[in-house]
Amino acid sequence: MSKFINEKFTSLEEYTPGEQPQDKKYIKLNTNESPYPPSKAVVKAVSKAEIKDLRLYCDPECKKLKLAMAKLFGVNGENIFLSNGSDDILNFAFMAYGQKGAAYPDITYGFYSVFAELHGVESEVIPLRDDFTIDICEYKNKNKLIVIANPNAPTGIALSLEEIEEIVKANPDSVVLIDEAYVDFGGESCYKLTAKYDNLLCVGTFSKSRSLAGGRLGFAIANERLIADLEKIKYSTNPYNINRLTQVVGTATINDNDYYLKNCEKIIKTREWVTKELESLRFFVLPSKANFIFAKSDKISGLKLYEELKEKGVLVRHFEKDRIKDFNRITIGTDKEMKTLIEKIKEIL
Ligand code: PMP
Repeated sequence: MSKFINEKFTSLEEYTPGEQPQDKKYIKLNTNESPYPPSKAVVKAVSKAEIKDLRLYCDPECKKLKLAMAKLFGVNGENIFLSNGSDDILNFAFMAYGQKGAAYPDITYGFYSVFAELHGVESEVIPLRDDFTIDICEYKNKNKLIVIANPNAPTGIALSLEEIEEIVKANPDSVVLIDEAYVDFGGESCYKLTAKYDNLLCVGTFSKSRSLAGGRLGFAIANERLIADLEKIKYSTNPYNINRLTQVVGTATINDNDYYLKNCEKIIKTREWVTKELESLRFFVLPSKANFIFAKSDKISGLKLYEELKEKGVLVRHFEKDRIKDFNRITIGTDKEMKTLIEKIKEIL
């Protein structure tokens, strides 16, 4: 850090992304990417002509992509916001709606506390129950920004649509942000409720179920007034924040939705058998509706299992954090990758 940095950032604890090793080849089960490639239509969409057009700025309104999404989700273009990954949208939301503080669970996506600190938003951190579920009664009449990942990460546990609606209904004067990064793997999206509630901000990403983590594309669906707030911030920071190629592949992705739905089904099937395998090895596995599972063994510590798996070429995610340090978060890969994972775990145990 230099002596020139604004004092307010000196104590900021930045987010630590999962490892992205560029040297050794690992079975990579640590950052919840899809094990399946983008669809053939997506690969075809990146034509020479599109690459030549990179000399031109991209469409800041992302009209084509928005149109495709509006059709798929059955909403209007003015109800959709697009940005550079959903992290970007979370950042904007803390900036826009955090003036009275923000409430979120103690065990959840690590970026929420970073954005809160970055924007001087006071955090109310609400503990999950002992079984790692969210007690929705704790999220009523808060009068501040509420942020809930549904399904939650890293637990994978989901709230029902009725529970989400109860929270939204009980906070008419606050924005309720539901982060649905993992919703396509068995959860229930709340985006349709945005027609009914003007305080609900439903945030999604192309990084997980749509195999585009490296493309950086996130979206929000909400009442047009919330979308206008986010646009205001985007146009005050970086209006061209979704590059031309990402707009093109994003549109092709939406137009090939069935391919992605099938991949989600495959991932869910794999998750179910991996869970059973781990349970037969006496692991405790939380009930996941995401493309990862959160599991612990009483035979080996979370850290040791992470380290030994890494040694054997399998990367999983470990959080050395209170309440969850016995666990590892394991992304669901292909059946072949997961068979190797189970073999390696058996060797280690
Ligand atoms: N929300 C949650 C709960 C996540 O786990 C992630 C991925 N790290 C994100 C949002 C951000 O995803 P992206 O920026 O790739 O859209």
